[in-house]
Amino acid sequence: MSTFNVYPVYDITPVKAEGCKLWDDKGVEYLDLYGGHAVISIGHSHPHYVKAIQNQVAQLGFYSNSVKMPLQSELAYKLTALAGLPDYKLFLANSGAEANENALKLASFHNGRKKIIAFSKGFHGRTSAAVAVTDNPKIQAPINFADHVVILPFNDVEAVKNAIDKDTCAVIMEGIQGVGGCHVATVEFQKAIREKCDEHGGIYIHDSVQCGYGRSGDFFSFEASGVKPDLISMAKGMGNGFPIGGILISPKIEARFGMLGTTFGGNHLACAAGIAVLDVIKDENLVQKAKELGEYTLAKLKTLVEKGRIKEVRGKGLMIGIELESPIKEIREKLIFEDKIFTGASGANTIRLLPSLNVKKEELDRFLDALGKYL
Ligand code: PLP
Repeated sequence: MSTFNVYPVYDITPVKAEGCKLWDDKGVEYLDLYGGHAVISIGHSHPHYVKAIQNQVAQLGFYSNSVKMPLQSELAYKLTALAGLPDYKLFLANSGAEANENALKLASFHNGRKKIIAFSKGFHGRTSAAVAVTDNPKIQAPINFADHVVILPFNDVEAVKNAIDKDTCAVIMEGIQGVGGCHVATVEFQKAIREKCDEHGGIYIHDSVQCGYGRSGDFFSFEASGVKPDLISMAKGMGNGFPIGGILISPKIEARFGMLGTTFGGNHLACAAGIAVLDVIKDENLVQKAKELGEYTLAKLKTLVEKGRIKEVRGKGLMIGIELESPIKEIREKLIFEDKIFTGASGANTIRLLPSLNVKKEELDRFLDALGKYL
């Protein structure tokens, strides 16, 4: 093997996929409830998506941001319409970290400040500014250490009220913490961030990289709070596997030439993928489906909590954390090798489900039955 060895891997080689199913090189079929880490939003190899990418690459795969790009405008129009944010502008990048990097930079350009407030167990990516606001010193190289970042407990309304002041550049938070284990931001917490940012001129950044685009059962997870962030970062499910990220930017922040930029961000092929994803989400009513199936699955799991077989179940929509009293490593191995079901994890004790938004009820039932055997 010649690749740099940074990932522990399962001894499985997927070669084909469709919907929530994967097949390995030996023809073994798996149920994918992990979606390659929340990336597969409309299902693997969705025919509309495949066709859109095939057609686009045959026409024009790439040109730089120095020419007119109607596909970017179409993506921005469809996205802001579905999100109910018609006055927000779209800047396109290539990944979640890059989206957050640009969001943090834009906030600092806007108010000229540098104090950032972030939260415990938060994850925002591995580029310089993004990793500096990520609560995990193990993934911060010495050059990433930043003394302008304050980490507060997640969902602590009083802490937020006390910490946001006239020096605060931005507050960055996940609507549902992914890597942290599916902790859902409360309505009061989001309102407090909004209120204090308004009072002191700070920018509220909502990291929707993992919980975005329908996964929470709303198009964006902040909808339930009734307040809008100034910047919303997105990636993962945005391209259903095609690398694309971006930020939605409130009208209060003005653009100027050269402020942000990228070579690959917003290229033709990425836009074709992004548009196809939005079309499918709309046409197949996937946000509502995620809501209903999420409620169904969470209700089933809560009965296992009541019976004392699970310690806690958290999340919303199709972003579900199942915390056990003991490590889940062995159970996940049994699920994947015996039951042929892919799941995700958060820390040592939490199984994380991140299926495609068009997962079927029977597929979730299959998981619940399999899990039941090991509790
Ligand atoms: N933000 C959140 C909430 C994430 O979960 C992740 C990745 O897991 C990122 C940002 C970084 O995204 P990427 O790996 O595309 O850089």
